[in-house]
Amino acid sequence: MLVYIHVPFCRTRCRYCAFHSTALGRGVNPASSRLVRDYVDTLLLELAHWADIHGGAEIQTVFWGGGTPSLLPPRIVGIVLERLARYFNLVGEAEITLEANPESLRARAWAAEYRAAGVNRLSIGIQTLDDTVLRMIGRSHKGGDSLHAAFAAREAGFANISLDMMWGLPGQGVRQWLQTLKDAVRMEPDHISSYGLTLEPGTALERASGEGRVVLPPERDQSIMFMEGAAFLEANGYLHYEISNFARMGFQCRHNLGYWEGQDYLGLGPSATSTIAGRRWTNPADHKAWKDKARLGSLDENAEALTVHARALEMLMLRLRTARGLRLKDWRNITGRNLLADSRKLVQAMHENDLVRIRHGYLSLTRSGMLVSNTILLNLFERADAALTPDGPGASKILAESLCGP
Ligand code: SF4
Repeated sequence: MLVYIHVPFCRTRCRYCAFHSTALGRGVNPASSRLVRDYVDTLLLELAHWADIHGGAEIQTVFWGGGTPSLLPPRIVGIVLERLARYFNLVGEAEITLEANPESLRARAWAAEYRAAGVNRLSIGIQTLDDTVLRMIGRSHKGGDSLHAAFAAREAGFANISLDMMWGLPGQGVRQWLQTLKDAVRMEPDHISSYGLTLEPGTALERASGEGRVVLPPERDQSIMFMEGAAFLEANGYLHYEISNFARMGFQCRHNLGYWEGQDYLGLGPSATSTIAGRRWTNPADHKAWKDKARLGSLDENAEALTVHARALEMLMLRLRTARGLRLKDWRNITGRNLLADSRKLVQAMHENDLVRIRHGYLSLTRSGMLVSNTILLNLFERADAALTPDGPGASKILAESLCGP
């Protein structure tokens, strides 16, 4: 089983972000401290509840995401990990990731304390190293903080460091993005996540873009950023193993690989989703509603049972995001159908246009295909959905959840 822990706090809100989190503001204030304390108490309660049901289950990975998990003091992270180990079978070689903002690691002691608390992988959200662009997207750190953070993490003994980066940002040019990648590679991370900016509805950046107050790079430049960026990273020893993820050999994120392979996962914290034994539920995003349900032990009362149809379509959407692709035999085993035969004309056209490849029984996207993955996945999804039982429950929801660009 995989465990995801959502930490719903940030210092300030970034202008592009649609994740669930509350801005605590700078400095310490009593209301924020109370809220964080209450969050930790509820998290421990939620953990104890699931221990009663799934206690002893093997846990291969733990991922602290958010929000900004590095706002939690290392001591708290250590307490939660210690409880996890006590209630479940947290395997010795478990991958334990914590997302950190660069400014949180300014004080070197915290990196070392997270390591001592049991975290063995840090994912540092640097986004870009350009201060003007960082300001424009509302990040509260500077490029220099990222260099310090990566250095502090290595000094603290982290042997597995990932950098989170973004391209297609307002004010960013192709040359500047490629230079940012070069500078990032000089920091010698083991893993790089490189996401294209999406203008999420309701965010400040989406409004500003709609009103013409910020301008994104032209589409052609964005394509070059993705294609040349990926080629540069591969040339520097980073395997392009998923549309937005690159890793040195052996450093692929095991937690995310687990999601894409369809392993069970337990989500803790407000807005976290869980899928266990074919049932899926999502915790309320609202703190009080989450707390009430955790107290009553009713977090999964509205769980949806995933049908074979829904699971198959989800497998299609997730595996095709990976460089390895979808094993056609797995599809046949689950659905009893031949995907290539059901989508023959479409697959043939995509193959002729170098968007997909079929090799050793796997269907996968080429790099050009990854660039237009949303369109490809949408088309394949529709063909596959039609070939299976029409109107399968959950199908449209899966489509909406799975479609996110490179
Ligand atoms: S720090 Fe991360 S979670 Fe928080 S607002 Fe920024 S992007 Fe969103």
